Amino acid sequence: MDDQRRILEGHSIAVKDGRIVEIDETVDQMRKFPSAEVIDATGRIVMPGIICSHSHLYGILLRGASLKIPPPSDFTQILQRVWWPADEALTFEDAYASALVASVEFAKAGVTTFADTYSGPNSITGVLDHIAKAVDEVGVRGFIAFEATERHSRDEGIKGVEENVRFAEKISSNPKSKAKPLFSLHASFTVSNDLIERVRKLASKYNAPITIHVSEGLGDLQHNLENYGNRTVERLRDVGLVGPNVVLAHCVNLSEHEIDIIAETHTGVAHNPMSNMLNAVGVAPVLRMLERKVNVGLGNDGYIFDMFENMRAAYLLHRVHHKNPNAIDPYTVLEMATINGAKLYGMEREIGSIEPGKKADIIVIKPQLLPTPLNVNSVCGHLINTVDGDDVEHVFVEGAHIVKNRHLTTTDEEKAQSISRSAAAKLWTRLEQITPQMDSFKEESYPP
Ligand SMILES: [Zn+2]
Repeated sequence: MDDQRRILEGHSIAVKDGRIVEIDETVDQMRKFPSAEVIDATGRIVMPGIICSHSHLYGILLRGASLKIPPPSDFTQILQRVWWPADEALTFEDAYASALVASVEFAKAGVTTFADTYSGPNSITGVLDHIAKAVDEVGVRGFIAFEATERHSRDEGIKGVEENVRFAEKISSNPKSKAKPLFSLHASFTVSNDLIERVRKLASKYNAPITIHVSEGLGDLQHNLENYGNRTVERLRDVGLVGPNVVLAHCVNLSEHEIDIIAETHTGVAHNPMSNMLNAVGVAPVLRMLERKVNVGLGNDGYIFDMFENMRAAYLLHRVHHKNPNAIDPYTVLEMATINGAKLYGMEREIGSIEPGKKADIIVIKPQLLPTPLNVNSVCGHLINTVDGDDVEHVFVEGAHIVKNRHLTTTDEEKAQSISRSAAAKLWTRLEQITPQMDSFKEESYPP
């Protein structure tokens, strides 16, 4: 995944002290490292660790839940009837349990770095320590944030931001942790300009990226047109929330002018095709953004944690949407899930490709069923059309062998699942006692 898009066959990679030190044309040249541990990757695919650019680890706790709610008819109702009540019900234990099991699922499916934002008005101060603990137990790298929102009050927003500040301060004295600071705002329709400016200044002080949901449903577009006379990205530009350290999640309902702003300010975008399909919000103009050289990464938005499924969804969605079988090629999708994600979070010099000097975030894939030849010409096709997360055989994060022969070496997978099942059962019971907010504007009355 380097900038020459090279695919090498029969090569070997030497890793020392967590970094890639050499890539050689043959295995023989590696004999100069006689004491090295050798992983035989013959017949396998070796690629950079996958980067999930937008996630909510706690989303995993609602998998399979059947909520007793009137069916939502638009995205705002999905927030009001599903996610906001769930946020209210979340506890510190839920944050830890979900982060643990989601990190396990990510790691086993080859994700070595992710960006997570947690939301829970009744579990704010200190929650990122619980998430960081889980991330470090599994050994994946996670940018983690509390998602600040003024949905209930201004104080709630400030408290959320302060949790990110507290964590950024704390983690700066622990460089060994794989948890990294991130600032997160929910979406422009639940935050004031004041709060946005506060976050912008603090993220710059702590040299941390910022993420915000943008034009996922039509709620924020309506809010910004009515209250600021501008579309969402136009308002964000006016308050300075654009630029290379900003990651806009979703960007489904964008005008050409908004794409201009994103491109001109080198703002990043995290595309979440499976979540967008699940929530029926529409198709983000990813091809248009890629044409404009916007850096687009790939996220799961807390939905399906196997990023190979998310890659396949991105590959298919834009083809059918544009009725064009050449709309997007496998390599571009792979870039979105690797090097583009690294660029979004300012880590392109460290991760996202296999190159000497970079951190050894490497995965080894052995398709369990391989009906056709695997070679330099077919490998990208296989990665998009054949491979699933459970074909990942080995995972290295900064040289640490965290998945070996498909088993996690760092933490007890069974125990993680049992902790999560128990937390989810209690959460589901609590959710039965919450009456969801029912009022909603009609999204249909606003043009995209
Ligand atoms: Zn999200």
